[in-house]
Amino acid sequence: MEILTLEALRDNYIYILIDTFHKTAVVVDPSESAPVLEALHKRNLSLTAILNTHHHHDHVGGNNILLEMFPSAKVFGGKNEGRIPSQHVFLAENDCFTVCESQCRILDIPGHTRGHIAYYFEKEGWLFSGDTIFGGTCGAIFEGTPEQMFESLKKIAQLPPNTSIWCSHEYTEMFMPEAAKLDAHNSKILERTHRVKQLRNTGTPTVPLLLQEELDTNPFLRFSNPEFASQYNSNPGLDTFLKVIQASG
Ligand code: ZN
Ligand code: FE
Repeated sequence: MEILTLEALRDNYIYILIDTFHKTAVVVDPSESAPVLEALHKRNLSLTAILNTHHHHDHVGGNNILLEMFPSAKVFGGKNEGRIPSQHVFLAENDCFTVCESQCRILDIPGHTRGHIAYYFEKEGWLFSGDTIFGGTCGAIFEGTPEQMFESLKKIAQLPPNTSIWCSHEYTEMFMPEAAKLDAHNSKILERTHRVKQLRNTGTPTVPLLLQEELDTNPFLRFSNPEFASQYNSNPGLDTFLKVIQASG
């Protein structure tokens, strides 16, 4: 299986997973249909599924037109989410299914929305995480509670550190200064800031994120680190996470 990264809208990423042998494809969070149709057409691929992480328009905006073009494609989403256009399959934590001959497992990660899910490919070490974690930051808490977001991020933090995180927005460069403020003594953030700037200057995506790098430099994933927690005079865990959320305003 191959992954194609498409840039869409202002700073969204759409991912196309390709089964090169069968010439089929699956799309993750198609914010719009045009770039997806173009990519499929160019490679002579037919779309078999749409995987949505949550219902926001910049993740499902292309669903209906893609379905018109590929009427047999199935739309996947979380069972608690609702509001995903034309959803066929309603998924819960640990549900497993096959995508392009690879096994995918669902992580239920509410917080950004109430039914937000992630698509995890354990063998490949890939996580499609929507708007829950970004480079150096986490998603806005719109429908869930900070406690739910904490549990969701903890679930991600416990995956193997070499996991590739395919998040849905290019936010890394924008949030590095904020990360540096929230974790003032962390030299790895300054190193990352420099590297990210170089990538972005040439228009190179910072995705996929590497989980280990987030554990090292993303203040919203560093809650279990005792040194980090001590900056906030808090106990590692939820206590620290809530203080980081508070400090980030
Ligand atoms: Zn969103
Ligand atoms: Fe989004």
